[in-house]
Amino acid sequence: MARDTSPQCKQCRREGQKLFLKGQRCLTEKCGVERRSYPPGEHGRGRVRQSEYRQQLREKQKARRYYQLLEKQFRGYYQKASRQPGVTGENLLRLLERRLDNVLVRLGFAASRRQSRQLVGHGHWLVNGRRVDIPSYQVRPEDVITIRPSSAAADVVRSATELTAVVPPWLQADHDALTAKVLRLPERSEIATPVQEQLIVELYSK
Ligand code: SF4
Repeated sequence: MARDTSPQCKQCRREGQKLFLKGQRCLTEKCGVERRSYPPGEHGRGRVRQSEYRQQLREKQKARRYYQLLEKQFRGYYQKASRQPGVTGENLLRLLERRLDNVLVRLGFAASRRQSRQLVGHGHWLVNGRRVDIPSYQVRPEDVITIRPSSAAADVVRSATELTAVVPPWLQADHDALTAKVLRLPERSEIATPVQEQLIVELYSK
């Protein structure tokens, strides 16, 4: 499957904030945003003309990079969200948040979405006892997530758990047994994504 291979620290610098794409490194002084807090490129430190469109575009790009999705995938989520009842922006974030690769990061079972996606793709995780190797799998309430018995990734997952102290209230994690449960769908206030989703809706609904 196609994926964005551009340098991750550059993505954060372009958005002007830490998107935590690299796991442990993001928590150290080696973080690209900490070291160079201006956009990448020859004109990175130049004056930027602000416009409404630019703000909306940057917000969409930030969300897309945060969840590590390509434009086509991201737009697909928006279209699905706009067909659902309720507030489109919140629906969009909820769909993105329910991706299995994101859920593993929220649970502390992966240090980054890229690592999470690799672990899922290699079949290290079971949902309700069945192997799921699709990172975009949408978790549902009552889903039980477990690491595959005798998985070679158990040590990697255990070291990732040390980076996460708090699991969001819509999920329940057992870091010793490496199992988790989805208690319910997340509320907007429980989604710690650094984006203003309304700007994304305004951009796409033009
Ligand atoms: Fe972003 Fe992490 Fe790189 Fe810092 S270290 S710029 S948070 S990817």
